[in-house]
Amino acid sequence: MFDNLSDKLDRAVKNLKGEGRISEINVATTVKEIRKALLDADVNFKIAKQITNEIREEALGSNVLTAVSPGQMFTKIVSDKLTDLMGGEMTPFRPTGTPAVVLIAGLQGSGKTTFTGKLGLRLKKQGKQVLLVACDVYRPAAIDQLETLGEQTGVEVYTERENKNPVEIAQNAIAHAKKTGKSMVIVDTAGRLAVDEQMMKEIEAVKQTIEPSETLFVVDSMTGQDAVNTAKTFNERLNFDGVVLTKLDGDTRGGAALSIRRVVEKPIKFISLGEKLENTLEEFHPDRMAQRILGMGDVVTLVEKAQQAFDEQEAQRLNKKLRKNQFDLNDLLSQIQHIKKMGDLKDLISMVPGMNKMVKDTEIDENAFKPVEAIIYSMTPQERTAPEIIDNRRKKRIANGSGTSVQQVNNLLKQFNEMRKTMKKINRMTGGGTGGSKAA
Ligand code: GDP
Repeated sequence: MFDNLSDKLDRAVKNLKGEGRISEINVATTVKEIRKALLDADVNFKIAKQITNEIREEALGSNVLTAVSPGQMFTKIVSDKLTDLMGGEMTPFRPTGTPAVVLIAGLQGSGKTTFTGKLGLRLKKQGKQVLLVACDVYRPAAIDQLETLGEQTGVEVYTERENKNPVEIAQNAIAHAKKTGKSMVIVDTAGRLAVDEQMMKEIEAVKQTIEPSETLFVVDSMTGQDAVNTAKTFNERLNFDGVVLTKLDGDTRGGAALSIRRVVEKPIKFISLGEKLENTLEEFHPDRMAQRILGMGDVVTLVEKAQQAFDEQEAQRLNKKLRKNQFDLNDLLSQIQHIKKMGDLKDLISMVPGMNKMVKDTEIDENAFKPVEAIIYSMTPQERTAPEIIDNRRKKRIANGSGTSVQQVNNLLKQFNEMRKTMKKINRMTGGGTGGSKAA
């Protein structure tokens, strides 16, 4: 995400490294480079000029604390400005009403239907009773797509395939939601390849009739300045409440994320980071995004993702097993599955401060866990709980069964043993484990 912009900002600020103090000259050079980086990222010219002027004034006016270098101070100023530009405080998504109705709008291909599915899943996980509504009366394929998403997420989908009136469908859906005790209704509307008048009238009519608590505008962030212009047009007609930026996992330059808030004066509420349904939707936090752009990582989001993927009981069960040296290969398998649920590996690693540069040009193999899983799947239950019984004959059988080599099986067993030994040592030091009565 925003690799180029991150790189350029990093380079601009690095030039100040070694400089003992802030001067007009070094500030001018740095600010010029920051402006160029923003323009290259497709940030609107006026905005780039405005914020770099602000950065310059602040840098020159600031008293450089002796504890921080000019480079560090500049990074802080830029981070604060980017946060400001993206809206400052995060604006939570909290629709109200019984049921709470959310209307989704946007161009065709922006990722509307995918987002509807992801939001449904997210709300379901929060314990809401959700109904998704297919209001695209032009493309039967869009209805099929939403139905598939509903099946994958276990969320009910309301459709009326013969009805060509989206206002009626939405009204009927809400009546159905009330009858069946739903707390949340998400209405997916039709999109077009270009903004056309009939479509705008239609969605305006849907909005007026169903009076949603939140109207969200979905936009493909890869489209840069076009995204900002489309958002403006939609906002003039629909007066939406928030923006959803999709495809931020791709090779986007970032201009949309950085300009939309200031141009449209509506908050970004969600970002979508992939085609997978699980763990690719995040609430938007301007400060965390600014930190990610500046390569400062985003530990808070990382921890939140971990919390979503690991449930409390499972964590306690594992902790107990670790403390008693009973962690076995079944537990390792379950750990791998949880990590995979957390989302894209490269994305996760770049949330660790300082890691984004390290993984930027590295291919992180999403399939790296596959052989490990295959090996464990090829073991008998007894072998998984007591790997020490795995002799050469068993190793050959496991390698054959999992399509791996005996060496790969050996490697896994060796690593697993090391892990157990380390855990034993830690338990001994901390008084845990079977023999550690102190821990009681
Ligand atoms: P709609 O026409 O606005 O309903 O758009 P869709 O939901 O059908 O999405 C269009 C395409 O974009 C599909 O191929 C989706 O899988 C893909 N897509 C949607 N959201 C994301 C995202 O966040 N990241 C990526 N990489 N692809 C996405």
